[in-house]
Amino acid sequence: MTQQTFALELRNVHKSYGTNEVLTGVDLSIAKHEVVGLIGPSGSGKSTLLRCINLLEPIQGGDVIVDGVSLTAPGVDVDRVRARIGIVFQSFNLFPHLSVLANVTLAPMKVRGTDRRIAEKAAHELLERFGLDEKAKSFPDRLSGGQQQRVAIVRALAMEPEIMLFDEVTSALDPALVHEVLQCIRELAQAGMTMVLATHEMGFCRDVADRVAFLQNGRLVEIDSPERLFNAPNHPDTKEFLRQTTPANPLRQI
Ligand code: ADP
Ligand code: MG
Repeated sequence: MTQQTFALELRNVHKSYGTNEVLTGVDLSIAKHEVVGLIGPSGSGKSTLLRCINLLEPIQGGDVIVDGVSLTAPGVDVDRVRARIGIVFQSFNLFPHLSVLANVTLAPMKVRGTDRRIAEKAAHELLERFGLDEKAKSFPDRLSGGQQQRVAIVRALAMEPEIMLFDEVTSALDPALVHEVLQCIRELAQAGMTMVLATHEMGFCRDVADRVAFLQNGRLVEIDSPERLFNAPNHPDTKEFLRQTTPANPLRQI
């Protein structure tokens, strides 16, 4: 019997801050090239879950397994594993004193020791792919929020990650700029990137995700295809959450 190797597996992941248990035993297996949307109320643990995947947060129980390798095993080179998982946050966190090009080449050169010429060539290619190459010499404060967020995505991609995590990457943007960032994520999905995206963009999530997970109080309540989860959720809590966040409701901010 051959066993499928998932791109990413969470097994019974527990995470607490002090006495506050924020993830209460999360199981999640993500296939290679799969896109999983993560939805749930504010405070349900979406950001924490993404941070635990990337080992930005230590976990108190369970295991995170990337391409068959446990991250919590003794002797695992955390930096190497992290380099395989890109993460992009709501706030772009670009280095303000560096040009777009230098923002993108910094990690490949510093962490990987990539030669500057090679790093710059790769960076230009990525910037070109996402329509940003003419901004290569600009500093972040000369760019719109949407452009900055796209640079943040390119910067993460420059490390050639196998998995990308997106944490509400459009939440801080002017509504007019949301589309260009979502388009960038859509392109990555079409190119086969394995991704987990925490989002309150329900329409986009439905459109781009292969499966959608609903998280509440640190528990993965259900995970299903977008069609099933949005049209016929199993759990009453999912139903209630979706009822509150349908576009018909102007107060859908979560
Ligand atoms: P979401 O992203 O779904 O809004 P979070 O993962 O940010 O949820 O938060 C989940 C819970 O963890 C919340 O109760 C929050 O207060 C708590 N929390 C998150 N980060 C920290 C932290 N660094 N220290 C203490 N508590 C935290
Ligand atoms: Mg969050």
